Amino acid sequence: MYRRKYMRADALATKYFFHPLRRLIPPSQGRVPILMYHSISDVERSARHPYYETATSPEVFAQHMQFLAQNNYRPLRLAEAVRYMADPGQETARPVVITFDDGYRDFYTHAFPILAEHGFTATVFLPTASIGNTTRRLHQIECLTWGEVEELHKAGIDFGSHTVTHPQLKLLDATMVESEILCSKETIDERLGGAVRSFAYPYAFPEIDQPFRGLLRDVLNHAGYENGVCTIIGTAGPRSERFFLERLPMNTYDDPALFRAKLEGAYDWLHPLQYATKLINTRSTA
Ligand SMILES: [Zn+2]
Repeated sequence: MYRRKYMRADALATKYFFHPLRRLIPPSQGRVPILMYHSISDVERSARHPYYETATSPEVFAQHMQFLAQNNYRPLRLAEAVRYMADPGQETARPVVITFDDGYRDFYTHAFPILAEHGFTATVFLPTASIGNTTRRLHQIECLTWGEVEELHKAGIDFGSHTVTHPQLKLLDATMVESEILCSKETIDERLGGAVRSFAYPYAFPEIDQPFRGLLRDVLNHAGYENGVCTIIGTAGPRSERFFLERLPMNTYDDPALFRAKLEGAYDWLHPLQYATKLINTRSTA
């Protein structure tokens, strides 16, 4: 069968140029890589360009967690990570945060058993309209049920909001934005006894839109959130905004060399490109 070969400029430059360069500079204080996973399932490998893939196979996910365990990484909850960024103290283990967007059921069947093997915690972001007492779907993929969410919560997994209906928030009016952010938190809080502190912005985050950022910040604050993550590529640190923490996108193509390079900050060079693309797209559609 014909299989498309993709040019992985981002992977090649990260592994062979930016990673060796990054290792010459001592790591700065208070930085925390926040890993962004979606589905943990087998991937149709020729489906799309590796940069845009979001699924990670269970085998690759197991390798990633093994790497963290063998290299003295300690997974933190987001609230702990935010505290660490402000005051790194004498922490000897390397901090990392493991997050999952979309609340897919394969977190329960595939990711959680691997995390539990290492005693790792993680944060799962739920789009609450896709979570039911029986299985519902998002993007045609099965999601967790409330029974599973409660069981995972008891086992030490953190849950955050990923809105109610997983919309492009930027396309909604302020009242709808508020309702997506408030109602999702209320629903999860009710099920888990007031546990929600974190929010994950669905889809690409419009980081250059300052008025929208301001609106989101106000709504999140008012709703009682303490922190949040988005799709800005990079390592979070003392200068990050606590509601819009940068993350490192992970997928099945993250081989050990690329995974390690990302953890060590060698993927952060992509952010200026991501930013410039958003600027150009905004200008050309304005
Ligand atoms: Zn999502």
